[in-house]
Amino acid sequence: MNAPMPAVLRQHLIDPEICIRCNTCEATCPVAAITHDDRNYVIEASKCNFCMACISPCPTGSIDNWRQVPGAKAYTVEEQLLWDELPPELSAEQLAAQLAELAGGGDAAAVVDAVAAATPETPATDPTGEAAFNSAQWGAQVPPWSAAHPYTKLYGPKAPTMATVVGNVKVNEAGTENETHHIVLDFGSMPFPVLEGQSIGVIPPGVDAQGKPHHARQYSIASPRNGERPGYNNLSLTVKRVVNDPQGRPIHGVASNYLCDAAVGDKVQVIGPFGASFLMPNHPKSHLVMICTGTGSAPMRAMTEWRRRLRQSGKFEGGKLMLFFGARTQAELPYFGPLTSLPKDFIDINLAFSRTPGAPRRYVQDLMRERAADLVALLKDPNTCFYVCGLKAMEEGVVLALRDIAQNAGLNWETLGATLKNEGRLHLETY
Ligand SMILES: Cc1cc2nc3c(=O)[nH]c(=O)nc-3n(C[C@H](O)[C@H](O)[C@H](O)COP(=O)(O)OP(=O)(O)OC[C@H]3O[C@@H](n4cnc5c(N)ncnc54)[C@H](O)[C@@H]3O)c2cc1C
Ligand code: SF4
Ligand code: SF4
Repeated sequence: MNAPMPAVLRQHLIDPEICIRCNTCEATCPVAAITHDDRNYVIEASKCNFCMACISPCPTGSIDNWRQVPGAKAYTVEEQLLWDELPPELSAEQLAAQLAELAGGGDAAAVVDAVAAATPETPATDPTGEAAFNSAQWGAQVPPWSAAHPYTKLYGPKAPTMATVVGNVKVNEAGTENETHHIVLDFGSMPFPVLEGQSIGVIPPGVDAQGKPHHARQYSIASPRNGERPGYNNLSLTVKRVVNDPQGRPIHGVASNYLCDAAVGDKVQVIGPFGASFLMPNHPKSHLVMICTGTGSAPMRAMTEWRRRLRQSGKFEGGKLMLFFGARTQAELPYFGPLTSLPKDFIDINLAFSRTPGAPRRYVQDLMRERAADLVALLKDPNTCFYVCGLKAMEEGVVLALRDIAQNAGLNWETLGATLKNEGRLHLETY
């Protein structure tokens, strides 16, 4: 049975520009909220119950899109089927005006406050209690202006390409729970051009419990554009072996265990590449602020290594690199050794550990607040791009920290955040 529509709905939508029409989400959705025609895959607002079952299987991330709208004006299936791109997020004023109109006039701000308070699907509240905060709305959908042109969707689910595993090593000291592997895939003579920040889909062999072939899982590329080994047609991934579900119950993650157990010489089915906006700037003196947890370090490793290679060959004129990296303990942090051997004048590394015995819990946003003075300078500089990748739970705290750092320095976050988004300078990729 469909739930009644709330006054303000955080509507779940599919980005038609990124979706590869693979049908995975429609096959996954337990309540048949997803449908399609020849043109688009779409979600029926009155059926979607926000169970999130479709988010992780989607090989492109195109299904992880949300827009705040009046429930009575939710985008219909018919409208969505005609879209070429997602509609922009309504501003607070536009939302208030639409709600006031639906309520027959009156004080628009009072209407929006009242419905926000009464609506379960509104975004989480700022811990300061000041205002509703929706971190996802600040994520850019365009790349930085100087990014190289990406190739996307060269290989779809119906025509995957094959890659050979040429390396598989553990990159942290963790026990089973956060065991992470660095896996190198070689494409031989098949074209597979990639840029730092893009991802690929891996299709595990075999079938699922329903007897259907497994769907692709998405993994960020951890190596730079000229290969894990420069000049080779290969790339690397940073894969965490999934052994528990988010509730801590033991499960055997299909693709992550398949990849972590892969032997050198094994052939892997790959689709992609994916991603046209989480890309690095290429202009001289552009700065990168990289904020990540766990396997969210993969795109940061790719960007850092590309800059390191440019610097080594004397082709880069500078630009700051600042990294905020969070893990439960130092032993669980992927790439700890290689990371800490990078020159201090090349990258400014800030590590946050949340479960070190005897030490207070520290998260990436805590370190960002400690480094507020440096971040303010970077926030003010139009050459800075911010990248956030890792666990979904980190995203809100990180964007709130950026907002607070800006506001404490007298900067207007509404203006600054909108600029960062519109100029492709604040990128969020959490899963
Ligand atoms: C844009 C994007 C980029 C990604 N990049 C990476 C990456 O670089 N490295 C990486 O390791 N993963 C990455 N992922 C996650 C990856 O796509 C898979 O979701 C993950 O490896 C689990 O797949 P699986 O087949 O092992 O588990 P499945 O068999 O699909 O999962 C079984 C169940 O495990 C739970 N589960 C899924 N993922 C996790 C998790 N991470 N932790 C705990 N429980 C989980 C869910 O309840 C799921 O239903 C990315 C996801 C997206 C959307
Ligand atoms: S969140 Fe759940 S109900 Fe909504 S479309 Fe995805 S799978 Fe279906
Ligand atoms: S799973 Fe993702 S890429 Fe595939 S059809 Fe659904 S939204 Fe599109």
